[in-house]
Amino acid sequence: MQTTQRCLLCQVKLNDTQSLIQYIVKDCLCAVCRRSLKIKRKTIQIHDLKLTGFYEYDAFFSDCLIQYKECMDEALQDMFLSEVKDWIFLHYYHCVFLCAPSSEEALAKRGFHHVKKMFEQCGIPIVECFKKIEDVNQKTGSLSKRKEIAKSMIVDETMIPKGKKLILIDDIATTGSTLLAMQELLGKDRVKEALCTAIHPKLLSDFDKRRIHRRIY
Ligand SMILES: [Zn+2]
Repeated sequence: MQTTQRCLLCQVKLNDTQSLIQYIVKDCLCAVCRRSLKIKRKTIQIHDLKLTGFYEYDAFFSDCLIQYKECMDEALQDMFLSEVKDWIFLHYYHCVFLCAPSSEEALAKRGFHHVKKMFEQCGIPIVECFKKIEDVNQKTGSLSKRKEIAKSMIVDETMIPKGKKLILIDDIATTGSTLLAMQELLGKDRVKEALCTAIHPKLLSDFDKRRIHRRIY
């Protein structure tokens, strides 16, 4: 017996609500949920790292991320980057993605690497060469916290392929300190770019303020 496919977020029947494009690309969300996830590609510079995010970090996005990451809803893995995966492939097909680490405890609890699963659909090789050896509280962290975070991670250099451009990936960038710590561990000349699904509004506004400040003075 064929089962009716339902939206992974709100459970409405997909056939009744999806657009033709959503139907063709086999989107796992209904039209309403898809529209609620707003694409907002934005690139900012934090120190020596160019960082691009793809979605608006609003309440809806945050709820989806909690459902996926904290409620361990692995089926949501493809919903976050499905509209931008082709753009990512075209821009980074010659690169290797280096995944931000999760703690062993979080990995064991979740049963899957949430960042790797999000980016797998883009078709770029992903290397899990970073390992977290202790948890650092990043919620209140500033960019200067990256040195402390760098000490809490190790990198396995033997896993990194030679001759490929290296791009760091993470789920969200809240302060950017994890990505900066990863860059610091590898060396600033080796990696200059990072991608995440969304950049926190506070980090975006800090970047805009710095840019305006530079323009004035
Ligand atoms: Zn829905």
